[in-house]
Amino acid sequence: MLFKQLFDQDTCTYTYLIADTQAKEAVLIDPVNTHVDDYITLLQEYQLQLKYSLETHVHADHITAGGLLRQRLGSATAVSHLCGADCADIQIENDHLFEFGQSETIRVIATPGHTPGSISFLWRDKVFTGDSLLIDGCGRTDFQGGDAGTLYDCITQHLFSLPDETLVYPGHDYNGCWVSSIIQERNSNARLAGKSREQFIDIMNNLNLPKPRLIDEAIPANRYCGLGANDRQDTFVNNEIRYPVRAITTTQEMVAEAKQHITEISVVEAKQLITEGNLVLVDTREESEFAAGHLDNALLVPRGVLEFKIGNLPELSDKNKTVLLYCRSGNRSALAAKVMQQLGYNKVLSMIGGYEAWCQSN
Ligand code: FE
Repeated sequence: MLFKQLFDQDTCTYTYLIADTQAKEAVLIDPVNTHVDDYITLLQEYQLQLKYSLETHVHADHITAGGLLRQRLGSATAVSHLCGADCADIQIENDHLFEFGQSETIRVIATPGHTPGSISFLWRDKVFTGDSLLIDGCGRTDFQGGDAGTLYDCITQHLFSLPDETLVYPGHDYNGCWVSSIIQERNSNARLAGKSREQFIDIMNNLNLPKPRLIDEAIPANRYCGLGANDRQDTFVNNEIRYPVRAITTTQEMVAEAKQHITEISVVEAKQLITEGNLVLVDTREESEFAAGHLDNALLVPRGVLEFKIGNLPELSDKNKTVLLYCRSGNRSALAAKVMQQLGYNKVLSMIGGYEAWCQSN
């Protein structure tokens, strides 16, 4: 047998390769799209055929390689039937058994709570817990349909009931840890050990975490096994398009969609409004971009943390006040404008061409 724990440094994601080297059959758990070539090289090195790429859930922080691996190697993609990923070949249910090699079996344990469709995979003495149970932690439950009480129930009832020595391989680790065990997590996990359900819910509801960096791209893409719109349109099976192309998928498509619902103004109009005053000017770029140069009196609220920060900003407490948003080129501010409108802001404007256009006009 072959077992490898692979790490994506960019998103601190673990991917697992399990293979029967006699039968030459392999399975990947949570592959990351930026490492497709690495996986293929690794598989070739051991002359392995990839049978399945399995997802522990629809990830918000990275894009899966499942769809690309299917295109290049013919492997089957599998994700929980509760994830809304119609493109997957296998819609996984609780207790599903994946068989590969001569006599290897991976059993599915439903572990919802981080997301409704989160699952863990049990293979031999190892459990791959995705973001449900992390080493000395657990996945957040504050978006993607998460529920802290559900997470507590499934961890304490379905994971902590596994044999003590079962090795816990998580979906991520941000502290350089690689593996744990059921007994270690049951006894020392800071969020769970000795905690009641109520205490756990209280901890989870007060984490105040920022939004994942890649969420706007990752979730829509992962519902299509990680494929972009162009890749999907090219994919035919028996002359039928295999994945129905839906409304919003890539960042560009989301921007185009947002722009249909918001009001954009030119730099000239923006200058006029700023001169008149009585508006809130918001820079939706990242901190480093802001530090390199910004409009006078602009408030920094990066697009990625907007929903989390907005409620705490006194400058934006009046939803009837005019808010003028800008970013580098006008795309992130368009997405931010749509979000603010949805949050009840009545006069939101996005500056066409962003800070670049502003600088060129001076
Ligand atoms: Fe996750």
